[in-house]
Amino acid sequence: MEHPIGLKISEPDLADYYPLPPETLDERIADVKARLSDRLLILGHNYQRDEVYKFADYKGDSLKLSQYAAQQKDREYIVFCGVKFMAETADILTTSEQKVILPDLAAGCSMADMADIDTVETAWQEITRFIPESSITPITYINSSADLKAFCGERGGLVCTSTNAERIIRWAFKRREKILFFPDQHLGRNTCKRMGIPLNEMILWDPAKPNGGNHPEALQKARVFLWQGFCSVHQMFQPHHVDYFRKQYPGIKIIVHPECSMEVADKSDLMGSTEYIIRTVTDAPSGSRWAVGTELNLVNRLKRDNPDKEVYFLSPMVCMCSTMFRIDAPHLLWSLERLEAGSIVNRIIVPEADRTWAKVALERMLELA
Ligand code: SF4
Repeated sequence: MEHPIGLKISEPDLADYYPLPPETLDERIADVKARLSDRLLILGHNYQRDEVYKFADYKGDSLKLSQYAAQQKDREYIVFCGVKFMAETADILTTSEQKVILPDLAAGCSMADMADIDTVETAWQEITRFIPESSITPITYINSSADLKAFCGERGGLVCTSTNAERIIRWAFKRREKILFFPDQHLGRNTCKRMGIPLNEMILWDPAKPNGGNHPEALQKARVFLWQGFCSVHQMFQPHHVDYFRKQYPGIKIIVHPECSMEVADKSDLMGSTEYIIRTVTDAPSGSRWAVGTELNLVNRLKRDNPDKEVYFLSPMVCMCSTMFRIDAPHLLWSLERLEAGSIVNRIIVPEADRTWAKVALERMLELA
């Protein structure tokens, strides 16, 4: 039976979990996980810290985790070690009997926050003053809130991930001549550029300016409208970091995530999602050298799992996702023990008004994926 959140005031507070030593946290997480058994599924994104990642039943990037969540109809509780848009996606794709929990509600995504429904609707109205609605497909990166996914679903658009962005954009161009891509300009630009779309057919949409800061003629000419959003982690990689590694380590391969800037992506040897990065480095020959441009937790894990290779982090700075980092062992244990006690904390529920069209947008993507 589900109890309202916070009903039992005698329940220990989250603060009580922080003084616990790491071994105790590990032991109690393992124990409560075993007791909840197959009622529970823990999902872990590749950027999560090791202290929680090691407890995930299933690990991967946004696409892999959303596909897996959609298949798990029998797990009552899905605890998502990731960020809010991922937990929302899991809630949309699972049944109403399943409960999705985000151990820390402050685990958001600064990129996802760069586009909101009001500014995207305003942009759409402005764009469609010059271009017929029937000629443009809205595409949202999965790093976006549920109402933006619904916005796309309702207008014939869909969701993409860094794994399938090219496939999704090709699908959109077969149907209509233009796309509005949000919130990450870099994924949109890097993907379109590699598909052969010239830069002069892409315009940047600044939501703070009328017409996104563009002349009406430019709006009519453009094929790709790129929202002015970015990932604060991946934008820290710079072209001179690539130059440094090439000079310092002859023969090194540079592999980066498409959320990096075009200047970095153009200088790299390979570009792809976190799953692609993991697979490529793991399958590379012994003794090969790699500089990797993505989040630090993932790169440190790659280093550890590939002792026969040289794996470097492509920046002198610490590029760690501070919001992913929020899910720690005390939050995980607290949410699991509360669950076992019958009190569901931090449940993520997408409002019904957004769910239907957001699901359409996600399912369009999953069919193509
Ligand atoms: S790494 Fe960037 S895009 Fe990914 S969750 Fe963190 S802020 Fe968002």
